[in-house]
Amino acid sequence: MTAPLRGRPGPVSGGLDLGPGPGTQVLRVAVVGSGPAGLYTAEALVKQTAQAAQAADGAAVRVTVDVLDRLPTPYGLVRYGVAPDHPSIRSIADYLRRVLEDPRVRFLGGLRLGGEVTREMLLSCYDAVVYATGAPLDRRLGVPGEELPGSAAAADFVRWYCGHPDADPGRFALDAVSVAVIGAGNVALDVARVLARPAADFGPTDVPDPVLAALAASRVREIHVISRRGPAEARFTTKELRELGGLPGVDIAVDASPGHLAGAFPGDAGASPGDGVRPPGADPADRRVRGNLAVVADWAARGPHGGGRRVCFRFWRRPVEVLGPGRVTALRLERTAPGAAGGAVGTGVYEVLPVQLVLRSVGYRSAPLAGVPFDERRAVVPNAEGRVLGADGRPRPGEYVAGWLKRGPSGVIGTNKADAAQTVRSLLADRLPGGAPPHHADPGAPPLAERLAARGVRPVTYAEWLGIDEREHRTAAALGRGERVKLSGWDALNTASGHPRSG
Ligand SMILES: Cc1cc2nc3c(=O)[nH]c(=O)nc-3n(C[C@H](O)[C@H](O)[C@H](O)COP(=O)(O)OP(=O)(O)OC[C@H]3O[C@@H](n4cnc5c(N)ncnc54)[C@H](O)[C@@H]3O)c2cc1C
Repeated sequence: MTAPLRGRPGPVSGGLDLGPGPGTQVLRVAVVGSGPAGLYTAEALVKQTAQAAQAADGAAVRVTVDVLDRLPTPYGLVRYGVAPDHPSIRSIADYLRRVLEDPRVRFLGGLRLGGEVTREMLLSCYDAVVYATGAPLDRRLGVPGEELPGSAAAADFVRWYCGHPDADPGRFALDAVSVAVIGAGNVALDVARVLARPAADFGPTDVPDPVLAALAASRVREIHVISRRGPAEARFTTKELRELGGLPGVDIAVDASPGHLAGAFPGDAGASPGDGVRPPGADPADRRVRGNLAVVADWAARGPHGGGRRVCFRFWRRPVEVLGPGRVTALRLERTAPGAAGGAVGTGVYEVLPVQLVLRSVGYRSAPLAGVPFDERRAVVPNAEGRVLGADGRPRPGEYVAGWLKRGPSGVIGTNKADAAQTVRSLLADRLPGGAPPHHADPGAPPLAERLAARGVRPVTYAEWLGIDEREHRTAAALGRGERVKLSGWDALNTASGHPRSG
């Protein structure tokens, strides 16, 4: 259960520099973002300060961590990104829940940095602030026609099927027969799989009811996964690739330029003399690359087995125009080939693929936070081992960063754990005597709750989130569907939490 927002925690001593006077004797940290990065940071803060206490001969070194999120729900992309038919990965939320229920950690939902709270407010109330707001923006294709109705970011489609409150539950009607998914990473595979899989498979999952209805009424028959390079360079993981080929009722087809298919590297088992050269950047010694090539080679050798839906991998093609008029009717593609300096180059050979829905999955991007340094080119907060660096290249006292905002959108959920631990090591090292000059909360500043109350803002508490959680379990039971059915839309979340204004 959550601790009350008011009041200052008790006295502390030990090796850490916890402040100038008796009024600031506990290390108070705000973590912005309750995704894996934010919650692994909270966990590392609790663990590492406990270890520091032990090292200081049992002295009572304490930390309190307030984890803020713009949403009334915790867990970030574990809740609103991981595919609903991957429940074992979703269950990471059970682990993260234990972090939130630690008495030293408190969830404060409905607080957006840059909205209800500002950087200055946090720095005056806390000894350190860790930014962990992920990478919520999508990258664009930059081709004509991208704005047409029927062309969308895969990120929007993901938010829709995951029941994110910002996604309109009626956003995707799935009346397209042919869909193009552009991209060669696991998000593209998730999207293709959700489109290909029989709707009945989603009955026991947590997809919102309107999403399940749309999947059941889907007219989609063909899903084209389009990649500007070959199977050797795709960022798919082999397990997810193989999973697609194992779906009942789904045919897989592979369309690649001759010579750039699986097993085509000279010297590879199954390669014929004269087969293509190794595309730059692809290391056939890499287990994942070899695994992917084997899966694709197997698919290429297989004929169709009469499935109701077909996923067609179209390698070595790039979109050059989304065609209308009025709404998407087709996609113009250019054939590509390996470039001498790596990457793919256009060949001047074009083709038109009739599709009625285009979903681009070409990467995520972090959003800048007001007052926080941001490297526009890399779309990350510039940092040294988690310490936020100012324009002068020096660490900004009291400001830290973790997760996708720190290193860009890469790695698996577990990658954020080691990443968060590194940030926390930096944060605590800065508070050791002789470390970097630490930041201290303003001893005269009222607690965050008071500052917010003065502006008519009350955070969503952990208990209120549990209200949503419980309503989702009850909805599933009432519908006879699995363990949880997500509520979709702000109104449903507000009603279930009992919080008046979290939208
Ligand atoms: C579609 C998709 C599917 C994925 N599937 C898998 C998978 O199956 N397995 C796997 O290992 N990895 C998967 N990943 C990767 C994994 O989700 C990420 O590694 C991880 O979520 C990154 O953690 P994060 O905390 O940095 O960001 P996020 O999880 O995005 O968390 C950021 C949090 O910050 C909050 N926030 C954003 N802006 C603000 C603000 N201004 N103020 C306050 N709060 C804010 C957000 O609401 C969110 O809760 C997937 C990623 C995507 C996009």
